Amino acid sequence: MIQMAGKFYITTAIPYVNAAPHIGHALEFVQTDAIARYHSSKGMDVALVTGSDENSLKNVQAAEAKGITTAQLCEQNGAVFRSLADKIGLSYTSFLKTSIKAEHWAGVQNLWALCSKSGDIYKKKYRGLYCVGCEAYYEESELVDGLCPEHRKKPEVVEEENYFFKLSKYQSVLEELIASDKLEVLPETRKNEVLSFIRGGLQDFSISRSVKRAKGWGVPVPGDESQIMYVWFDALSTYITGIGYGKDEKLFKKYWPADAHVIGKGILRFHAVYWPAMLLSAGLQPPKSVFVHGYITVEGQKMSKSLGNIVDPLMLIDKYGADVLRYYFLREIPTFDDGDFSEKSMAEKNDSELVANIGNLVNRAMVFLANNYDSTVPHAELGDGDKKFLAEQDERHKKITALLDEMKLKEAMDELMAYSANANKYFQDSAPWKSIKESREKAAPPLYVLANQVKDLGILLSFCMPNASEGIFTQLAIEKKSWSDLGKLSIKAGHRIGAPKILFKKLAVAKKQ
Ligand SMILES: [Zn+2]
Repeated sequence: MIQMAGKFYITTAIPYVNAAPHIGHALEFVQTDAIARYHSSKGMDVALVTGSDENSLKNVQAAEAKGITTAQLCEQNGAVFRSLADKIGLSYTSFLKTSIKAEHWAGVQNLWALCSKSGDIYKKKYRGLYCVGCEAYYEESELVDGLCPEHRKKPEVVEEENYFFKLSKYQSVLEELIASDKLEVLPETRKNEVLSFIRGGLQDFSISRSVKRAKGWGVPVPGDESQIMYVWFDALSTYITGIGYGKDEKLFKKYWPADAHVIGKGILRFHAVYWPAMLLSAGLQPPKSVFVHGYITVEGQKMSKSLGNIVDPLMLIDKYGADVLRYYFLREIPTFDDGDFSEKSMAEKNDSELVANIGNLVNRAMVFLANNYDSTVPHAELGDGDKKFLAEQDERHKKITALLDEMKLKEAMDELMAYSANANKYFQDSAPWKSIKESREKAAPPLYVLANQVKDLGILLSFCMPNASEGIFTQLAIEKKSWSDLGKLSIKAGHRIGAPKILFKKLAVAKKQ
């Protein structure tokens, strides 16, 4: 049996499928996947759950507007999200659709029953301000000019009898959990935001809707057919049902608690306050961390239908390939903050970094080996300069590892580019094209070192650009290597490499003037 270095469980948020995916979804998929692949490469047993949140009133309304059934809408739009997940390389272990009863409902209803058993669910008449876009009630004081802060829409006044969850009971427990980092909220600014929300006093929240208002769509409340579960209670539960809760207790116990929930800043409160409270109520452990990314603007402007600047990530993948988009999101968008997307800037970065830095290094080394050493890694005695360079690179990849352990993706990418640039400089300084004129032995050390550097780049690219990483291993004609092979001179003299192949294509940005 293969010895695993423990388990790692990560999730994306479960997007509503009332509209098509935009690049914000793509960003979240890429960030989540990068963290997951890194842990896989370290030998961990990784579970990644994603899916689609289908039981919301928004979907019912979107289906009505299109003149189709809600089930049809979920089927059609869910398939687009799944296609995005597949094409962008999201390495999910479960894509959970919340409207599929057999996959999800027993687990959610079980969670409800346990919260109820703890005395945390009660029924009361309620009147409140409801934003359908957020599927959430707002306090008057939380509105901005009377509008929902997320959707800039006036919430509706809703009055009915619903079930409530005793969130107020968990105030001090939640405060301690987050302040002590037992539930780590990243970044620090978001942690402080949650703490101040908790310290401001927690209100019990409604966790059901009348069947009438939900239009009969959603998970029924156990033992009360007049009520449907509130979509957030249902959607958050995906994080446990996606790993078998309610179906496969052994699988669930293997992966829970989640190591990280990756989410956008707009749904922080649901994940860092409501969700852990629900879990504690049911006697389950809270997640270990909540990773909060920002929003993406397009050429400096917020994406909106009216501006017509919603960028379709599927179109970008078809046009440029997944790796370029993945690279741009991880390298150019601050990991925990808002960032900007522009197609032009992506193409420029592709040319100046992927092509000119990484692609150039791999290609030069491979072509030199092919042309001068009959595609065979030469035997070499390393000099002080080679050893010094290798020691520097060791420091760099250790730094990348440390940054990835903290999920600091952008910083890790910056370091990765510096790693590759340093290898290019070493190639340049060693100038094997000069020493080869004297003898093949004389030029051998840098080529032996570079063959192994290319292998290490293959490992380092595995979390961010899986296709390029695979392309490197194919060219080197070796099996895929894992993170623990970094820094090892595991490609030995005498190994025959494959045919050199261009790793990244220039996107030929037309330069004005
Ligand atoms: Zn809203």
